[in-house]
Amino acid sequence: MNKKTIVKVLSVVLALVLGLTALWACGGDEPKTDEKEQLIMATNAAFPPYEYKEGDSFAGIDVEIAGLLADKLGMELVIKDVEFGSIVGGVETGKFDMGMAGMTVTPDRLESVNFTTSYATGIQVVIVKEDSSIVSLDDMLADGSMKYGVQQDTTGDIYASLTPDEGGYGQDNVIRYKTGAEAVQALATGKVDAVIIDNEPAKSFVAATEGLKILEAEWTVEDYAICVAKENTELLDKLNAALAELEAEGKIAEIIDRYIGD
Ligand code: GLN
Repeated sequence: MNKKTIVKVLSVVLALVLGLTALWACGGDEPKTDEKEQLIMATNAAFPPYEYKEGDSFAGIDVEIAGLLADKLGMELVIKDVEFGSIVGGVETGKFDMGMAGMTVTPDRLESVNFTTSYATGIQVVIVKEDSSIVSLDDMLADGSMKYGVQQDTTGDIYASLTPDEGGYGQDNVIRYKTGAEAVQALATGKVDAVIIDNEPAKSFVAATEGLKILEAEWTVEDYAICVAKENTELLDKLNAALAELEAEGKIAEIIDRYIGD
């Protein structure tokens, strides 16, 4: 190589290095100061008034509380709308940072994930047709003559599917739907005799459908909390601290009252 060629090669290398440095500086992996770490929340946005879609955006009690939690943690909230039954698994494997979906704390779920302190109470109720022969919980039979609609993988499904001895109606008498709304449609069209579902979504589905009512009796009373991967105790602690602050500031009650009232 003569001198001229060496100079040429060197200048090309230099140009490349400078170019790459410039690229890295403006778009590389160096986090910009205003870029926040993401807090990925998995939910099932078909559960009003806790989470639902309003056009392209998410709304509801959980969505608003999650927004305030992310603010407290200095993180950017990112919401993923998935099937209810895939939330716990996705949180367990780290695909999502947390699951917040009007989710009841159950012993089974506690085997896979941790839960924060509870921020709300959920009640399972029974929806029937206005002219139904079921007027109390005692009328609900496990003899195969009645079918119960539920949203799959929810506590309504889990408890209704228990054997009659365990207080349920047996697997075969339970019909599972992807969403609570579909279960309620099945009731309206006579495919099932009753739907077992959380009280607040029940109210909103019944209000939107002719000829249905909610039985007065409470089928179960449950605690809603946020689930986090077992090993992510750092996030669990931060969420619990932030929840306690929001609780003390009256923010949680304010949000719940605004959606549910009393
Ligand atoms: N609370 C019920 C459960 O945890 C239902 C939640 C839901 O459908 N989003 O199973």
